[in-house]
Amino acid sequence: MTNTKDTVSINGIAVPTGLFINNAWVQGSGKPLTTVNPSTEEVITEIQTATAEDVDVAVKAAREAFENTWGTNVSAQLRGQLLFALATKMEEAIEELAVLETLDAGKPLAWAKVDVEDSVACLRYYAGVADKIHGSVIEIDDKSKYAETRKEPAGVVAQIVPWNYPLLMMCWKIAPALAAGCAIVFKAAEQTPLSTLKFAELIVEAGYPAGVFNLVNGLGAITGDALSRHPDIDKIAFTGSTVTGRRIAIAAAESNLKTVSLELGGKSANIVFEKANLPEAAKWAAFGVFENMGQSCSAGSRVLVQDTVYDEFVALFIKATEAFKVGDPYDSDTFQGPQVSEVQFNKILGYIEAGKKDGAKLVTGGGRHGTKGYFVQPTVFTEVDMSMTIAKEEIFGPVASIIRFKTEEEATQIANGTEYGLAAAVHSTNYGQVNRVTRRLKAGTVWINQYTFLSHQIPFGGYKQSGWGRELGVEGLEPYLVTKSVHHYYGEDFEWPIKL
Ligand code: NAD
Repeated sequence: MTNTKDTVSINGIAVPTGLFINNAWVQGSGKPLTTVNPSTEEVITEIQTATAEDVDVAVKAAREAFENTWGTNVSAQLRGQLLFALATKMEEAIEELAVLETLDAGKPLAWAKVDVEDSVACLRYYAGVADKIHGSVIEIDDKSKYAETRKEPAGVVAQIVPWNYPLLMMCWKIAPALAAGCAIVFKAAEQTPLSTLKFAELIVEAGYPAGVFNLVNGLGAITGDALSRHPDIDKIAFTGSTVTGRRIAIAAAESNLKTVSLELGGKSANIVFEKANLPEAAKWAAFGVFENMGQSCSAGSRVLVQDTVYDEFVALFIKATEAFKVGDPYDSDTFQGPQVSEVQFNKILGYIEAGKKDGAKLVTGGGRHGTKGYFVQPTVFTEVDMSMTIAKEEIFGPVASIIRFKTEEEATQIANGTEYGLAAAVHSTNYGQVNRVTRRLKAGTVWINQYTFLSHQIPFGGYKQSGWGRELGVEGLEPYLVTKSVHHYYGEDFEWPIKL
């Protein structure tokens, strides 16, 4: 394999643009993709893409590594050490990675750095877990038979992520896979490939054998589809929209029944009861929907407020919303940068129009911020009800829908009244109420008197159409392991019905 390391200089950072296969940079045969700076609408650069044939080369490299130099060929201790080394390399590269993330995704630089720090912490967590993976021993009868279960790596895995947290979503996926001993073929989102391309260089620096981590960028319909259908991939892990998740599950079933894990969309509810600490609840709820420009799968985009405190809460919520500074993501006091792309920008403005048309009351924001870049004003609608499009569909932008409720029963029903089930929050100082509502919520994550923050120690994933399986925590290893049951016999006088 020829090592053709095409690089471009972006803000003084040398970024490779090719495919990364077998620890070498190779030319992609697909049509190049342009990536755009959402703050300026200017093209940053072109990157190379993978066709189905290129994907096949990457899968072969991963298979070769898995069978011969990785997988069960290396010790758990070594897998842990390599992940620790990768974490250190990533930590050293924080400035460059964060600058690229901000340029490509529009994420405020300070938050991009937090994403890199969280990514490093996630790598270290799974580095520590790597040598604690083990099966168990079960005695069967009369102490002449026992069985052991072995936890083996699932094999060659494909991993596909979206653009909202490019590096973090990648580390949530690669860390448990590498800890388990899987070989990876990874695809970043077409809108935000730069930080991942830079990251791939660290794989070699950390000392990974060739073929363990391979990167093939490209469009979902071409490169992603080729991964979903590839007959020699054992497992696929995906984060993105529910529509795409369904397509991937079908392609996986139609090809080789590879196992699938899915982290999909959400329409999460922040429930504010009259017994809440209202100023705190208003800050958490506003942060919970506007953080990352509203582009979080767990965004609390429906804010459910008890009628007795509705007006008071709305006033606080608007104040919190209007305090968020929108602007240049490289400014240290910017909270909200641009949306990731023109497509997202137009989609969000379309939802704002739908909100107005459906009769919701626009109380702040509602349009474009500035004249250049994909900036949207933080927008709040009140008097929203569940018949409206903005209450039902995932907007993935800085738009909050405030919904009125009267009783605990009604609040729970509204919160659960969507096809999604990713997250929810309960704001109340009545602990009995918190306990009752938490039990009834159909959501994979429930926050009490807070919102948004996750930990790599705690599993994350969705109920209903928000996904299959869990990432993070010790549980997050499970999709990357298969159990082999080995039966042993050490009896000497088995009573055979046949005589020799
Ligand atoms: P998307 O589904 O369009 O794209 C996500 C990824 O899938 C991209 O890499 C894309 O190239 C790829 N893809 C697209 N079509 C494909 C296909 N047919 N086969 C294989 N891969 C394909 O999603 P998006 O609009 O870019 O991202 C936003 C969505 O992601 C939102 O719905 C959001 O809720 C969800 N999301 C969920 C989580 C979570 O953890 N649950 C986290 C972040 C984002």
